[in-house]
Amino acid sequence: MNTTHTLGFPRIGLKRELKFALEAFWRGETRADALHETARALRARHWDIQRAASLSFVTVGDFALYDHVLDHIQLLGCEPARFGFTEEDELTRHFIMARGVHGQSPSCCGAHHDHGDQRALEMTKWFDTNYHYLVPEFTPETRFKPSSERLFDQVAEAQALGHPVKAVLIGPLTFLWLGKAKTEGFDRLDLLEHLLPVYGELLARLRRQGVEWVQLDEPILGLDLPERWRQAFEGAYARLAGERPKILLTTYFSALADNLRLTCQLPVDGLHVDAVRAPDELARVADWLPAHKVLSAGIIDGRNIWRADLDAALAQLRPLAEQRGERLWLAPSCSLLHVPIDLAAEDGLDAELKSWLAFARQKLDEINVLRLALSEGEDAVHDALAEARAALTARRASPRVHDDKVAARLAALPENADRRAAPFAERQRLQHTALGLPLLPTTTIGSFPQTQELRKARAAFKRGELDQAAYEARMKEEIAQVVQKQEALGLDVLVHGEPERNDMVEYFGEQLAGFAFTRNGWVQSYGSRCVKPPVIFGDVSRPAPMTVGWTTFAQSLTEKPMKGMLTGPVTILQWSFVRDDQPRKTTCEQIALAIRDEVADLARAGIRIIQIDEPAFREGLPLRRAQWQDYLDWAGRCFRISASAVEDATQIHTHMCYSEFNDILPAIAALDADVITIETSRSDMELLKGFGAFHYPNEIGPGVWDIHSPRVPSVEEMERLLRKACEVIPLKNLWVNPDCGLKTRGWAETEAGLRNMVSAAQRLRNERAPTLAPSKPV
Ligand code: GLN
Ligand code: ZN
Repeated sequence: MNTTHTLGFPRIGLKRELKFALEAFWRGETRADALHETARALRARHWDIQRAASLSFVTVGDFALYDHVLDHIQLLGCEPARFGFTEEDELTRHFIMARGVHGQSPSCCGAHHDHGDQRALEMTKWFDTNYHYLVPEFTPETRFKPSSERLFDQVAEAQALGHPVKAVLIGPLTFLWLGKAKTEGFDRLDLLEHLLPVYGELLARLRRQGVEWVQLDEPILGLDLPERWRQAFEGAYARLAGERPKILLTTYFSALADNLRLTCQLPVDGLHVDAVRAPDELARVADWLPAHKVLSAGIIDGRNIWRADLDAALAQLRPLAEQRGERLWLAPSCSLLHVPIDLAAEDGLDAELKSWLAFARQKLDEINVLRLALSEGEDAVHDALAEARAALTARRASPRVHDDKVAARLAALPENADRRAAPFAERQRLQHTALGLPLLPTTTIGSFPQTQELRKARAAFKRGELDQAAYEARMKEEIAQVVQKQEALGLDVLVHGEPERNDMVEYFGEQLAGFAFTRNGWVQSYGSRCVKPPVIFGDVSRPAPMTVGWTTFAQSLTEKPMKGMLTGPVTILQWSFVRDDQPRKTTCEQIALAIRDEVADLARAGIRIIQIDEPAFREGLPLRRAQWQDYLDWAGRCFRISASAVEDATQIHTHMCYSEFNDILPAIAALDADVITIETSRSDMELLKGFGAFHYPNEIGPGVWDIHSPRVPSVEEMERLLRKACEVIPLKNLWVNPDCGLKTRGWAETEAGLRNMVSAAQRLRNERAPTLAPSKPV
């Protein structure tokens, strides 16, 4: 075997060059030429990296200025008619679709707030990754035609640099699947017959350009597909016969399972499968895939940052290499978009930890070592294999990774450690007595505006320019202000405002054992936005309290209950790179114990309400439904482990961001949080209906203010939403709060919005329970 390739490479650049070029362009500081030049240089550099790792082709078409799905919308000529484009050039249309017409970043104007006809395309998660793509919009009138030169230009660009090219396109069925029908009752699969001829034209043109192989990504073959979609595959690919390059069909992120035979029999020239997510399937695919076709084994993990076990990979590959010879190809499991670019550039980690890791560049080197071992024998790469083996052995035995105390504690954890002592009804009585809150209590989700000043103070402290005492004084001053403002507004349950937190996962990870932080390990989240996920490399424990000081200080300033704020175990897990040497579940349980300790300490310090945020609970769901229950069971147990070490009178809150809850309501109820706050204002309380119909048993705070928009809703608007909520949720279970934290808002909007929110609650309270004392500003 001799052929190696990658499904895609990160685009953003080692120093996030693309991000900065985009943002400068959006601010109007640079012209399109400069942006294109940065993009061209990045492509050239990334192709060089691929050739340096001796890949047989460079991959062309994976690069995108903002998002590769958006590139396809333009390539296939299906820009939504609602944008009313006429004379605008391709780049202008591109960013209008990505960001809306006001040119604000989607984080503040979002896909949801009203830009009239010019709101941006909706954004959603790319399968089970943290990458977000722009959602194509389809109507019965949607038609396609090849409408962009971008891909062909990039192919020519790579060829001019002397590279052998493999072009990549999202496959036609996955492209339709990723989009959304904008007309009620319309099945977007009906568009397939219009789409296929366009793919035919694109393929023919690539062929004429001298491209030998095209990679067509059809990751939806790893999903539970409706029968009609399954059946569409064979006919669709049969219609892509004719003048075209050879097609390598790629699947990734999950097992083919019931789609395996179907996939193996499609009329294409090769198939790529994810041998990391579905290791047991590789041999079955090899059996089913006709012998004359290429099998591309996705053998190196494209979703995580660990150095691979090359011996194990070779053991798996050897029989395939014997069987298929030159028709076995090697690649990472999926596009490398989801990992940072280069470990060599990492100066935030110690040498030992670094020796355990592999980023995109190192993963391509691993592919190359495997190729050489298979084609020339292991002696040819003796040193590289030995080094990998030594790193793995060291990692497996390292005391930094294994903490016997953590393992022992988990093993000894009683079965009922995830249960509160009393059932909810009884806890509710106790809590109502202990807290003395009015009907429809008002609260917020945790963070208050993060001003430039606050960020600067945190950064200065981190760099050592601000000493501990000065930093603490600055934060306390902020907390005192936030408390005083909340009292003046008449809120019932206060928060300290989270001024000391940069990020809700990083803040906790930095204080927990078993976590490491890179300095340059950026991964694209959407557009120019990148995240730097923590690396969980070892058993997790909590050496010391993390939030107790700030929270008790805040409580000391007020008679009202101060809500302690924590990030939940599932969210911490979900937004980190996690260990591959133990199940996710185990890592999550360890984090749960650490949070449990924090909850217990907060309660012991006199904090009567504690919120454990789990915005990522729903997004942890596996791609295949058959695995949902298992996930929901352990994730739910982890949440409860973290929440259950308190007296019944202590009130546990949780918070979840915009999610579709309807199909997981039993699991949400099983979390048994005393109060859950959710985002509901954007959907005009539609999301709450499911909770009502399900007779959600505990208390609930449906958001009445969409804090992603700078618009401040009026008292009447919030009152209207509250009335809707009253129709489906018993009054005694209802809370009043915004949709989410306020850290991205300014102070003026924050105070205005909260003032209106408290008034709305007051109006309803007076009407429904006029005899109860209203909460009054202090
Ligand atoms: N407590 C966090 C905040 O208010 C919650 C953020 C979130 O759910 N994403 O910022
Ligand atoms: Zn939220």
